[in-house]
Amino acid sequence: MSSRGELLARAAAQLAAVSASARLDAEVLLAHVLDCERSALIAHPAQAVADAPATAFHSLLLRRQRGEPLAYLTGRREFWSLSLALTPAVLVPRPETEVLVELALARLPAGEPSAVLDLGTGSGAIALALATERPTAHITATDVSSAALAVARANAQRLGLAQLRFRQGDWFKAVSSERFDLVVCNPPYVAATDPHLATLHAEPATALVAGATGLEAFERVVPAAREHLREDGWLLLEHGADQAAAVKNLLERHGFHDVTSHPDYSGTPRVTLGSHSSNR
Ligand code: SAM
Ligand code: GLN
Repeated sequence: MSSRGELLARAAAQLAAVSASARLDAEVLLAHVLDCERSALIAHPAQAVADAPATAFHSLLLRRQRGEPLAYLTGRREFWSLSLALTPAVLVPRPETEVLVELALARLPAGEPSAVLDLGTGSGAIALALATERPTAHITATDVSSAALAVARANAQRLGLAQLRFRQGDWFKAVSSERFDLVVCNPPYVAATDPHLATLHAEPATALVAGATGLEAFERVVPAAREHLREDGWLLLEHGADQAAAVKNLLERHGFHDVTSHPDYSGTPRVTLGSHSSNR
């Protein structure tokens, strides 16, 4: 039987070629199979690991070596201080998407009832973060994927967030003729030819790719949004590093005003938003 410390040292060496955080990944996975905190592993490295958890650990290491995200292996990811359950049916929520949440909250006065739509909710990350911060908001979360919606629904239930409802469908078709004060969308925006896609192979293609240019989802969502926003409502879109100008242009061409782009935590333009009024 090996000790925790020995298993971790071997695992970190094994993962070094595929992960920049090999030691941390190994600790997270061993803590997961032992159902303990990482701090407990570090505090007691000499403790022996029984055969069953050691075998489970080895099979997770192999999957990590093949490029599966840590979040799929543990079935968990933190987003906006919420612990979300995940399956490979949904995109692993990214930290930069929290910028979209912040910008949405700045446009949702606390304590007031508002109607909010999260298009392409995946794990439910954005909708659930908004629901915890704005208990008076009525939030609709949609996805084209029923498997993704099942994950989002289960997260809402586990977190006890009852002000959400879920609808399946292609973008705005999921909500017929309803209107909202604010619409958020982090659509698939990676171009089909982007070499970066190879590193994302474990995540669903429907979550990442909408077409050849990467702008196809915006070209669907922006023109349709006007029919689904209340007077002076906001549309907020997450996009790729080189897409801010194209998304801004699209919003302006479709009559949105106060169009601005905002950087993520690494300084990359990541969210572009605008407002719509019928009487301008
Ligand atoms: N909102 C989540 C987040 O920020 O982590 C997931 C975003 S993921 C980039 C895009 C999501 O849009 C996926 O869950 C995908 O299934 C969904 N999607 C793709 N095409 C769609 C469509 N035509 N209509 C509705 N949702 C769609
Ligand atoms: N931010 C993701 C990535 O490039 C892409 C997510 C998306 O298409 N919305 O890793």
